[in-house]
Amino acid sequence: MELKLTDEEASTLWCPMARVNGSNRTERGVRAPGSECIGSRCALWVVDNDAKVLTRVAENQRATRVEDAGKRPPDDCEFVPATARLPAHWRTDAPARGHCGLIGGVK
Ligand code: SF4
Repeated sequence: MELKLTDEEASTLWCPMARVNGSNRTERGVRAPGSECIGSRCALWVVDNDAKVLTRVAENQRATRVEDAGKRPPDDCEFVPATARLPAHWRTDAPARGHCGLIGGVK
C-alpha cells in the first residue's frame, strides 16, 4: 500500500491511538466506529506533499474546444481552453498527501 495518503484514503484506516469507550475495537475485535485515522486534522500527521494543480499544455495550444485539443492525457483531468494569455491545457488537482507520524519517515 502507498504510504503517502490523502485524507480520504487515511480515513479508511484504523488509528492505533484512537479510543472509543476505552478501546479501539469492538468486543468482536473489529474496528470501533470513530476510531478511524483523521489524517491532516491529527497533530501527528506529517505532510509529504502539499495540494497542487498539475497542468499539461494541449497538443493544439490554440484549441478553444475540447474536441480540438488533441490527445487527452490518461489521468482524470479537465480541459482549459486557450485564452489570449494562456495556451489550451489540461488541468488536474492533486490532493495533499501525508502519513501518520507514528510510523516514522516515509520514502
Ligand atoms: S495520523 Fe496516526 S495518530 Fe493521527 S489519527 Fe491518523 S493513525 Fe491516528
